[in-house]
Amino acid sequence: MAEHSGPDALQRSRTILRQTLESLQRSGVQQLARPPEPMMPVVQEVAIVAEPPPEPLPRAERPPPSARPRPAAAAPVRPPAADADAGARSAPPATPPAVPAPPPAPGPRSAALDVVRQEVARCRRCAELAEKRTQTVFGAGNPHARLCFLGEAPGADEDRRGEPFVGAAGQLLDKIIAACTLRRDDVYILNVLKCRPPGNRTPLPDEVANCREFFERQLEIIQPEFICCLGAVAAQTLLRTTRPVGQLRGKFHDYRGRQVVVTYHPSYLLRTPEMKRHTWDDMKMLMQAMGIPVPNG
Ligand code: SF4
Repeated sequence: MAEHSGPDALQRSRTILRQTLESLQRSGVQQLARPPEPMMPVVQEVAIVAEPPPEPLPRAERPPPSARPRPAAAAPVRPPAADADAGARSAPPATPPAVPAPPPAPGPRSAALDVVRQEVARCRRCAELAEKRTQTVFGAGNPHARLCFLGEAPGADEDRRGEPFVGAAGQLLDKIIAACTLRRDDVYILNVLKCRPPGNRTPLPDEVANCREFFERQLEIIQPEFICCLGAVAAQTLLRTTRPVGQLRGKFHDYRGRQVVVTYHPSYLLRTPEMKRHTWDDMKMLMQAMGIPVPNG
């Protein structure tokens, strides 16, 4: 194909092209259509032409953040066990909150105490006290208490309300109990007498003898490890002694295998506040025996 290459071939092609155009011109053709341009690969166009960024909107026309398109959410990451628990705590409960459990049914000790309570309420062994009382004051507190406070007899406030130690002396006893880091519900409080002596006089020996059975039965039912006698009447009655509180306090005594502490009656402490420090010493001794940490001071 040597005749189609080189300068001669190019000259021949130009001559043929010129003759063809002259022939077309003579035939009336004035303009030839342009051949279609070769198409660029689509991939090349995409790679070269970059879409310009949109013009930023004025601030007033910007959509609120909540309406703005968000980037695609990343796959959720499962939290570790501890975080999962924290999430469960912060999430609203799936079920309604639990209804507080009703108080436990009275146990055998409560039932046994109620039997004694009813006997006391009917008791008229002490004619004068039974006639003048508003009501008997049996006792109150935890029937499973490790510690019982034994007082003397109801006063006017107790006679009116039917509960032991609810007047001014009772408020001081509450402070003593709190100083021992205990609550009233932790202990049981009772008196030697269940009826108020007229004028808050000291109980008579026959009245104490009449009522002794009741507090002894209470203590047998509760079975406390410790008994704190408040005042001379309680201490001398329980321990069957005539020694004064000043000689009985500061040491442990025994009552049917239970450890007994003697201290001053709250009513006496209200009249003689300088003796409170001795009661606090007695309470610290009691707390140590009960295994309760004693505060400094
Ligand atoms: S003080 Fe005791 S023994 Fe005397 S009447 Fe009252 S409950 Fe009975």
